[in-house]
Amino acid sequence: MTKEISKTVKELKPSGIRKFFDLANEIEGVISLGVGEPDFDTPWHICENAIHAISHGKTHYTANRGLLELRKAISEFHSLRYGQHYDPENEIIVTVGGSEGIDIAMRTLIDPGDEVICMDPNYVAYAPAVQLAGGKVVTIELKEENDFKLLPDDLKKVITDKTKAMIINFPSNPTGGVMTYEDYEKLVPILKESGIFIVSDEIYAELSYDQPFSSLAQFDEVKDQVIVINGFSKAFAMTGWRLGYLLSNKNISQAMNKIHQYVIMCAPVAAQYAAIEALAHGMNDVVKMRNDYLNRRNLLVQRLNRMGLTCNMPHGTFYVFPSIKKTGLTSEEFCAKLLEEEKVACVPGNAFGECGEGFIRISYAYSLDHIKQACDRIEHFLKNYL
Ligand code: PMP
Repeated sequence: MTKEISKTVKELKPSGIRKFFDLANEIEGVISLGVGEPDFDTPWHICENAIHAISHGKTHYTANRGLLELRKAISEFHSLRYGQHYDPENEIIVTVGGSEGIDIAMRTLIDPGDEVICMDPNYVAYAPAVQLAGGKVVTIELKEENDFKLLPDDLKKVITDKTKAMIINFPSNPTGGVMTYEDYEKLVPILKESGIFIVSDEIYAELSYDQPFSSLAQFDEVKDQVIVINGFSKAFAMTGWRLGYLLSNKNISQAMNKIHQYVIMCAPVAAQYAAIEALAHGMNDVVKMRNDYLNRRNLLVQRLNRMGLTCNMPHGTFYVFPSIKKTGLTSEEFCAKLLEEEKVACVPGNAFGECGEGFIRISYAYSLDHIKQACDRIEHFLKNYL
C-alpha cells in the first residue's frame, strides 16, 4: 500500500511569485520588474574576506549560534544603529538567511491550533511557516488609504485568547509601507496587555528612505515579547550568501537554538566571515546602494502616477505597490496581459494575500535605464485600459 505525504504539505499553496515567473521565463525579450533581490553584486571587499578565510583553513563548523566575533559585531551594530540591545552570548543566533529565522521562530512559538496574526498583503513565506508549525493564520488587512500601516483598532479586533503571536514586516514587502516610532507607540499598550509574541521581520531596515527606521524592539515595555529577524541579503546585497540572524530574549533564543542546532548545525562559515567584513566596513556601500534605490523609486513613482496608476509613495524596501483597479482588470489578468502584450513582468498583488487583489508589485532593484524602458511599455499598455 502506498502512503501519502503530509496533508499539511499537500495543502500548502505554491508561491504565486514563482508561478508567474515560470510563465515569464518562457517568453523571449521580457523585461522583468519582478525580482526581490538587489541588482548589485556583493561589494568586493566583503567577498575577499570570505575568500581569505577559506584560504586560511576556515572551512569548519562554527558554534551553533555562529562565530562570536560576528555576534558581537551584530550586537554592536543593532545597539548603535537602531537602539536595540542584545547580548551576543545568549540572545543572538546566526541563521541561514532571514528565511530560516522565520521558520524556527514559528516552530518555537506555535502549538497546534494557536492563532498567528499575519498582515494582508504580506511576504509570501509567513503563512506557510505558520501552517507548517501547526498554527492558524488570522489576517489583518493593511489598507492603501492608511499607507499600508498597522492600526491599533485593527489589531485589537483580532486578538483573542487563542492568539499566540503576530508577524510584522516593516519596511514591507510587497507594499513598501513603514511604521514610525509614533505608529508603534500606539500599538505598545495593546501588545503589552495581550502578552502575545511579536515576530518582527526587519530585513529591509537599511532600506528606509524618508524617516529613521523604528522597531518594537526599541520599546522596553514589549521588548521581551519580540523576536527580531534580520540579515545581510538586502542591505549588503548578499542574497546568495544565505546569512541572517535572530535577536530575542535569552529564553526564546535558547529554545530557537534547540531547533537550529538539530536542523542546521550552523550557518556557512565563509558567509559568516563575509558578514563580519560587511558590518565592519560595508556601510559606505549600503549608503551608496540606498541612494541609488531612492533615485529609482522617485522616478518610478512619478512615472506611474503620471501614466494614471495611483501609487502611494513607499518609504522603504525596493518595491512599489500601485493600484490597478481603474483598469477593471484583476491583478492576475493585468500581469498576464502586460506580459503578453508588452513583455513586462510584474507580480500580481494577490500573490501576497487576498487583500493584495487590485494591486501589482513592481520591484525597482533594476537600473534606471531598465526601469525607464519598462515604464514606456507599461504606459503604452495602459492606453488600451484607462
Ligand atoms: N523577509 C522578507 C520580507 C523578504 O522579502 C525576504 C526575501 N525576499 C526574506 C525575508 C528572506 O530573505 P533571506 O532569507 O535572503 O535573508
